[in-house]
Amino acid sequence: ECRNTAIVLAAGQGKRMHSKIQKQFIELDGMPVLCYSLRCFQESPLIRDVILVTGEEYVSWCREEIVKKYGFTKVSNVIAGGKERYDSVYAGLCECRDCEYVLIHDGARPFITDEILKRVYEQVQVQKACVVGMPVKDTIKLINKEKQIKESPDRSLVWQAQTPQTFELSLIVEAFERQLKEDCSHITDDAMVVEKQMGVPVYMVEGSYNNIKITTPEDLVIARAFLNV
Ligand code: C5P
Repeated sequence: ECRNTAIVLAAGQGKRMHSKIQKQFIELDGMPVLCYSLRCFQESPLIRDVILVTGEEYVSWCREEIVKKYGFTKVSNVIAGGKERYDSVYAGLCECRDCEYVLIHDGARPFITDEILKRVYEQVQVQKACVVGMPVKDTIKLINKEKQIKESPDRSLVWQAQTPQTFELSLIVEAFERQLKEDCSHITDDAMVVEKQMGVPVYMVEGSYNNIKITTPEDLVIARAFLNV
């Protein structure tokens, strides 16, 4: 029996969506965005339980209108997140019980698949730390505050990080405990915490170009196109 826990993050404000309703709760083809990834975890034999992290004011709403309504029986806990993404992740990590690998996933990414979970699980058993991502399609430029281009990294080596980001539980907990004692203002994903604090390599695993994060309004158009609705 596997002992893998998914932490699903749904505590963001979604300011870039400019919508009253937060991006993870917007309906896509009659079901909130958040439900798509929860359904994938629910159906995957690789996942034992799910911890759902949401805003304090949405905890009871999520219990009723998401977990109960859609029958997500693997969700063992719905908890309040924090101000920043890393606060929400740490809140989730603190709820993990007797788990081997933890998959940290953005609730705003509806299009993960069991194939992706299989690839991640295979890698993490060997490497202890891996994240899914895809090679960038555009050339990426690093600029300075004056918008001068300072560097053009070799495109074949530039990948976009997606989620799930997957780690041995003890490794990611230790990394976060070290990181939280320092300045966290630049932390936007979990891999960078492990890279910086633990000095162990984090491996990239192929995700998919469909595994988008619903962030700005045009992402909803793309998501509907993927769903053919
Ligand atoms: O803000 P960003 O797009 O990086 O958010 C990625 C995911 O993290 C979203 O699913 C969002 O709900 C979640 N998040 C969170 N707590 C925060 C900020 C973001 O759970 N404080």
